[in-house]
Amino acid sequence: MDTPILLATDLDRTLLPNGAQPESPLARHRFRRLATRPEVRLAYVTGRHRELVKAAMAEYELPRPDFVIADVGTSLYETSADDWRPLLDWQRTITVDWGGRSRSELTAMVGELPGLRLQEMAKQGACKLSYYAPPLADPTELLDCVRQRLAASGVSVNLVWSSDETTATGLLDVLPASASKRHALEFLRARLRIPLDRTVFAGDSGNDLDVLVSDIPSVLVANAQAAVRAAATAQADAANLHLARGGLFGMNGNYSAGILEGVVHFIPETRTWLMLADEAADTSIGVRRIESEREKE
Ligand SMILES: [Mg+2]
Repeated sequence: MDTPILLATDLDRTLLPNGAQPESPLARHRFRRLATRPEVRLAYVTGRHRELVKAAMAEYELPRPDFVIADVGTSLYETSADDWRPLLDWQRTITVDWGGRSRSELTAMVGELPGLRLQEMAKQGACKLSYYAPPLADPTELLDCVRQRLAASGVSVNLVWSSDETTATGLLDVLPASASKRHALEFLRARLRIPLDRTVFAGDSGNDLDVLVSDIPSVLVANAQAAVRAAATAQADAANLHLARGGLFGMNGNYSAGILEGVVHFIPETRTWLMLADEAADTSIGVRRIESEREKE
């Protein structure tokens, strides 16, 4: 078998078609077929917590991943049909940054700031403190303020800002400094010993940016916000970033169509796999049609 491929993708508005733009009809079906090939190690990389990942998998009929990086990189699970096993090495790697302080201690240190509201308990994690914020175009001042309040106590944090365009809300995650989607994905890639040229990441928004601009081959799906596209283009090495624009098998480049476009861009042999799978599906549809015609006769 070929060298394994690590296919890592964000969920909301990247694999999940839960944005305003349309999804190409066959895109998710093709993604599922590619993701379940024996060469592919599938990882979901998301801001969602475990239960919300499971809910999305059921709602959108997603293939079962081999790994889930959840809570914006603060948890990493190895998954099987009925077991999600947290990789404790990863937990140990990141928790030192909070210097033994709990999330509620950090909440008290951040205190009150205009427009900042704690997210629901289900969205908080052992190493993730999450707020709703106003939909600021430039959150620098707010982020500086939060960082200063925590730095005074020697807590080392990574602040991840993104915005949800469907609800016009800013989202702020306060994480241990070394916790990020990128670091978690690098940790996983090293553990699986998969080379960079067999790795592809797909994302759409601000909390994907650290991976999109890294040396990990990445695709920005076509439905991404213009501001994210501009930031990613400005910061990334063009050789490692593909901007999906549509055209692959007549698909529009949004969501899973964009993911597939990126995979084919960075690992060209996958185009043949997808074409052969399409042909096989066409043939089996054709055979079924002939059989059902015969039954009628
Ligand atoms: Mg997203």
